[in-house]
Amino acid sequence: MKIGLMGGTFNPIHNGHLHIANAALSEANLSKVIFIPTGVSYMKQGVAPSFHRFNMTKLAIEGIKDFEISDIEVTRPGYTYTKDTVSELKKSYPNDSFYYIIGTDTLFKIESWVEPEFLFSNLSFLVAERGDKEAFEKVDELKNKFNADISFLSCDFLDISSTNLREKLTNHQYDEVSDMIPEKVVNYIKDTRLYDELSIEDIKEMLKVDLCPERYLHTLGVIAMAVKLGKVYGADIKKCEIAGLLHDCAKSMSIEDMNAICNRYFIELSEEEKNHHGILHGKAGAFYAVEKYGIKDSEIIDAIFTHTTGKPDMTLLQKVIYVADYIEEGRTFSPKLNEYRERALTDLDSVLVDILKDCIEHITEEGYYLFPLTQETYDYYKDKSLLTVD
Ligand code: NAP
Repeated sequence: MKIGLMGGTFNPIHNGHLHIANAALSEANLSKVIFIPTGVSYMKQGVAPSFHRFNMTKLAIEGIKDFEISDIEVTRPGYTYTKDTVSELKKSYPNDSFYYIIGTDTLFKIESWVEPEFLFSNLSFLVAERGDKEAFEKVDELKNKFNADISFLSCDFLDISSTNLREKLTNHQYDEVSDMIPEKVVNYIKDTRLYDELSIEDIKEMLKVDLCPERYLHTLGVIAMAVKLGKVYGADIKKCEIAGLLHDCAKSMSIEDMNAICNRYFIELSEEEKNHHGILHGKAGAFYAVEKYGIKDSEIIDAIFTHTTGKPDMTLLQKVIYVADYIEEGRTFSPKLNEYRERALTDLDSVLVDILKDCIEHITEEGYYLFPLTQETYDYYKDKSLLTVD
């Protein structure tokens, strides 16, 4: 069989994608085209979660003869590399040949993909051209350099771009995209509010589903304290609110799910971390905030990431969230908390040191495992603090 492969971020899938896949099917005499939504791209940040892009692609090709979908990339842990996909597909289709369908922008990028030699020796490429001379020159260059098999499709170019579509979808201009995206996909986007920019109120509503009522209440306490501290120390108040809001967003997840998220983002975990819910929810939560809540700000992501252990040389936001988590008004576990709350308004670092010290003492007394990063953070801030710490 001659099999077409239509890889894409599909954020969202649109008629331009379907059009070139269709052209490839007939012009290259393919038996079928397999649509392969990417998992986690190492090149694109803040992309809609892979399960949504997979669902949209499935809806877009539903009922279309000779179009199939594969979850090979969305289910593979870690970053998506096309060479891994091709290696896997070759095992399932040992006697068939693959035709990778692309646009011209991609044509200029393939050389920078991982293992281009492998790709060019295992795939033929079908390029949807836009009539630009450079594309023809590029093909000649790739043919010479890699002995590549590349042909152009002669279909029209539909001037549709996912970036422009997302802008319209974010602004709910659904009528303006209706002739560029299959209706079922538009309805899916409307129902899931996939490209809506989430307001703090939206995030709160979603969090109520992710967290139990007690945890949600604690979260509101952390926001209030983070904002209070942020105002005193001149932090970005919106970032304090969002980081406070999402710091525990992964708290109700299973250990397996938290490990899976960390795995997808190449977060190195020690054996102790892999099995420690209390520590892991910070790291997993940082990337759950990216995947589910669309957070793109690295300062916020970092503050969620470190709120369980701290780390030496934290940003102001990281310190604010770490401290606010411990001293928010709903906490009652220590008689020292009132004094910490007061002192945090004038000397954040000294309270940070005391919190770290309390944590280390508690962990040691209870015979729990002490994460080295907590000790390192304490040592770093103890040495930095102007106060005498015994
Ligand atoms: P995308 O934006 O969803 O686009 C998918 C394909 O459709 C691209 O080739 C794109 O060409 C083409 N296209 C988009 N709009 C079009 C239109 N109006 N008319 C004709 N063609 C159109 O996906 P992507 O982010 O470019 O990713 C494409 C594939 O490359 C994915 O499978 C990804 O995993 C793979 N990739 C692999 C590596 C690696 O292995 N190292 C690195 C990067 C990407 P244009 O590029 O011309 O828009």
